[in-house]
Amino acid sequence: MGYIRTEEHKKRMSEIKKGHKHSEETKKKMRKPKILTKKFLKAQKERGKSQRGENHPLWKGKNAKYNAKHEFVRRNKPKPKLCEKCWKSKPIDLANISGKYLRSPKDYIWLCRKCHYHLDRDKK
Ligand SMILES: [Zn+2]
Repeated sequence: MGYIRTEEHKKRMSEIKKGHKHSEETKKKMRKPKILTKKFLKAQKERGKSQRGENHPLWKGKNAKYNAKHEFVRRNKPKPKLCEKCWKSKPIDLANISGKYLRSPKDYIWLCRKCHYHLDRDKK
């Protein structure tokens, strides 16, 4: 399997380099996201000038959802004095344990920066 994929990949790469007919297609594919990114960046820049990020509808919508859950957890899981993992540092982040973001305080834990970092890293 690995061998075939590598060979195919090599072939494709050399076709691009040679300017094979495939490259035209590849260029088109590559051009599109570039435009999108430029547009996106420009829009983002302008947004920053005219209004604050919070006012952007998409941002607001996303955050409303996030806040609702966060609000629920915060209400049911008060912030402790120390990180619930190492019990050494001040907790900063309310982290989700299962990755499913359950509507249960048991699925959340108050962590210090360090422990949160390790938890996120272990998930991946
Ligand atoms: Zn900790």
